[in-house]
Amino acid sequence: MKELIDVLKKKSLMIFDLDGVIYRGDELIRNADKVIQELKNQAIKVVFNSNNSTITRKKYVEKLKSFNIQTELSNIYTSASITSVEIAKIKKNSNVFVIGEIGLRQELEAVGHKIVVEPINYGNIDFVIVGLDRNFNYNSLEIAQKCILEGKAKFYATNADSTLPVANGLKPGAGVIVKALEICTDQKPIKIFGKPEPFGIQLILNDFKIKPNNACIFGDRLNTDILAGNRAEITSIAVLTGVTSKEDIIKLYEETEESNLIDKNLIPNIVINSLEEIFKN
Ligand SMILES: [Mg+2]
Repeated sequence: MKELIDVLKKKSLMIFDLDGVIYRGDELIRNADKVIQELKNQAIKVVFNSNNSTITRKKYVEKLKSFNIQTELSNIYTSASITSVEIAKIKKNSNVFVIGEIGLRQELEAVGHKIVVEPINYGNIDFVIVGLDRNFNYNSLEIAQKCILEGKAKFYATNADSTLPVANGLKPGAGVIVKALEICTDQKPIKIFGKPEPFGIQLILNDFKIKPNNACIFGDRLNTDILAGNRAEITSIAVLTGVTSKEDIIKLYEETEESNLIDKNLIPNIVINSLEEIFKN
């Protein structure tokens, strides 16, 4: 693993996906806490980045603390926090209609956006923001549709994950709800802020004033974490403690050799079995 150490030595910022890298559900992945602490001891900036918009950053701080990983709000980025900051760059203190949960709602309000629950005048809504909402219903879909078609609100989404990993398998992800609104408005989101898009990573690099070649991302999903890392031109490291297996990686290499249709950005720069390998010689 000398190669890995040599690569990582040059990095001053490391971005970690959470589920499948640091923990699996409510279980810490072995020694992930110690690895994070050791990186911090070496003065490396450690940032966590999750596509899940339903959980507040404060909850993530508490969850990590329960695993003996100390961090601050400013080191946590969710697709919800990234979306909230990015749309404020388009319009500050905007009126938004939201399909999403508390994690998204709190982040939007924290940067000054006003959430309108039942718009009287659809024309007053600047943005419709869609994230995962496990209480999603026909009524909110109809309001979102009207805000966009009648009121000319702009359509943005936190992420478009097809599935949500849970302790005992998979549930439908935010992408399902994004598609529902796409179909009834005949519009696609102007931007999707979460992974695999590079915007979140670019925001992190900008906030910490780090150049892409001084940063890396550790993630367990090729079509979100690795794709985002490669698109943002930082070093992408697949960790095999989550949804991607060694067989998946071998299959990807084989398919890439056979076909030029595979997106090269799906291929991680480095593959490791677990974060423990960072400090193994
Ligand atoms: Mg993950």
